[in-house]
Amino acid sequence: MARVRLAEVSKTYRRGTAPVFALRELSLDIAEGELLAVVGPSGCGKTTLLRTVAGLERPDSGRVSFGERDVTELPPERRAAGYVFQRPALYPHLSIYDNIAFGLRARRTERSKIDSRVRAAAARMRVDEGLLEQRPREISGGQQQRVALARALAIDPDIFLLDEPLSGLDAQLRAELRVELARIHNAIGSTTLFVTHDQSEALSLGERVAVVNDGRIEQLGTPRELYDAPVNTFVAGFIGTPPMALLNGSIGDGRFVAEGGGLAFASGAQALGAAIAGLRAEDVVLDPTGGVRGVVRVVEDIGSDCYVYVGGPFGALVARLRPDETPPHAGESVNLRLAAARAHFFDGAGLRR
Ligand code: ADP
Ligand code: MG
Repeated sequence: MARVRLAEVSKTYRRGTAPVFALRELSLDIAEGELLAVVGPSGCGKTTLLRTVAGLERPDSGRVSFGERDVTELPPERRAAGYVFQRPALYPHLSIYDNIAFGLRARRTERSKIDSRVRAAAARMRVDEGLLEQRPREISGGQQQRVALARALAIDPDIFLLDEPLSGLDAQLRAELRVELARIHNAIGSTTLFVTHDQSEALSLGERVAVVNDGRIEQLGTPRELYDAPVNTFVAGFIGTPPMALLNGSIGDGRFVAEGGGLAFASGAQALGAAIAGLRAEDVVLDPTGGVRGVVRVVEDIGSDCYVYVGGPFGALVARLRPDETPPHAGESVNLRLAAARAHFFDGAGLRR
């Protein structure tokens, strides 16, 4: 396992004559043994990032290094990157055993070592011995993805590159394999770049999380840092379930006033002019004495929590109810109380203040 670094990596594709900027001078430093999650919307450059680390794409500029070694010019087979794709991409005509052995053979590993490595990787990923002689189509989707992980693990990679490895699975298997990935990571301390478009998956698995948008890192931090102090409205709206409510307005005389009216609260002394206030659901409560009035649009009762989506002239807010509170009905008028001291503020350009 190794520390892996990207330094100002850019990658542009062409669509016809138009350039597509997939990575824009992106720098990232993954510590040895770290599990770093990369999250961002579809098309933001996540797969390109992994393919560039693996050597499947060559960057237009910038460097990639594994440990002290600059690997930018090396072909994929000369870097030890264990790549796992979104869909378990197994060779259908090969046995499970031969699928796991594939990367080892491609790297011309000594024959005597192949068998022990295949069996060790299979055991680690909890692929039953009994499955090794079967074909991919004879085993379940979850088992196939375990095999793909075992294949990546078998080559004893410097880094694990996981490209949305859970998104092709149904919800229950996804939850199960997510725990499994955390277990493996804890057991072997693998340097891992885990890519997903699912922010809850990124927060639960990543020791640090990079939020990527349009080929750039918007913010890199621990899950708690991203949640507590998003640097801009993109991160604020992307991280957290439900997303932070963002209200347009202005700040003057130490107060935030919503653009549409019906909501104002103390914001500290700063006079900013145009501003955006962010409020998380846990900082908004239903309270008949609360000063903000709105109409319930949707009630989302998921058992552990109940979220109430409320609309008003100010825009939209979400309140989280305590387990003992009775939820209101859609269409009902309600009063809200805001924990104003916990509000987040962004300037007109969306940057945190
Ligand atoms: P993600 O994995 O985050 O969905 P990708 O890295 O696959 O994003 O793609 C980033 C951008 O580059 C997208 O706009 C995508 O359409 C474009 N892109 C990816 N691969 C190619 C390619 N081979 N040719 C042209 N454009 C591409
Ligand atoms: Mg992708």
